[in-house]
Amino acid sequence: MKKLLLSASVAMMLFSCQKEDNSTNTQVDTAANRGCASHEVLERQMQEDPTLASRMANIDKFTNEAVKAGRLVNGVIEIPVVFNVLYRTTTENTSLAQLQSQIDVLNADFAATNADYNTANNPYSAVRSGNMNIRFVLDQVIRKSTTKTSWGTTDTMKNAKRGGIAATSPTTKLNIWVCTIGGGILGYAQFPGGASSTDGVVLDSKYTGNTGTATAPFNLGRTATHEVGHWLNLRHIWGDATCGSDQVADTPTHDSANYGVPAVGHRSTCSGTPLEMYMNYMDYTDDRGMYMFSAGQKARTAALFVSGGARVSFAQP
Ligand SMILES: [Zn+2]
Repeated sequence: MKKLLLSASVAMMLFSCQKEDNSTNTQVDTAANRGCASHEVLERQMQEDPTLASRMANIDKFTNEAVKAGRLVNGVIEIPVVFNVLYRTTTENTSLAQLQSQIDVLNADFAATNADYNTANNPYSAVRSGNMNIRFVLDQVIRKSTTKTSWGTTDTMKNAKRGGIAATSPTTKLNIWVCTIGGGILGYAQFPGGASSTDGVVLDSKYTGNTGTATAPFNLGRTATHEVGHWLNLRHIWGDATCGSDQVADTPTHDSANYGVPAVGHRSTCSGTPLEMYMNYMDYTDDRGMYMFSAGQKARTAALFVSGGARVSFAQP
């Protein structure tokens, strides 16, 4: 785990959380800044499976062509969600009410019916996604007790032989593992193109839903909105590089991740110093500071569900 190429701030958190496995001090493992391990997990998976990079490149090629041709799915895609809850303490045994609150947040954020969607002074209101046309339905909850204090980011929680819970029907259902991850990581997702057995999203139970044990400043359920965005092929808005590309045309170039809630008018240091879209779910902003996807991100996700798309198995006939 220490070999992962984590950003400096996450790496610092990792150090400060090193003793977490033997500690019951909840203060130690409560994150101050958003930490998402999706990109680091992808880099590990690419090293383990040399064919993954070309599979993902083909998905991106298909996506770009579909977006350009306007060949996108029109109806609402309904996605059954299986929660796999792994708990050592009763606090970690996330209540049904808290899990349902996560479904409700996902549905509001993806339908653009979230209460903060029309936040004033949004310089990017013209390129907001509107309804992403993706709905989430609670399908089932699987619970398993464990002696593990934290699970890390190596997908062990998805392996029944190693104490985890195997994915249920991962080609037709979104599996969300809810457990204690540790290391200051709030969650991570697998991008389209990865192995079926590890497909889905992992959430730390402290950053799941908007009630129960949900912990500020990540207590509004937006960690799942961000991670499901990755599961739907969206990249971090800074492209995981200094002034990198997220492969979406209508999002500005960001120099790096934003933390907390940036001031209105915050600019990128990249070429042209554009206003940053820190209110986008794919940034690292606190939950209360993020409230939109862009139209370009919507098109990128919609391309997954057309014939030949990487997640067409989820599309209703
Ligand atoms: Zn992320």
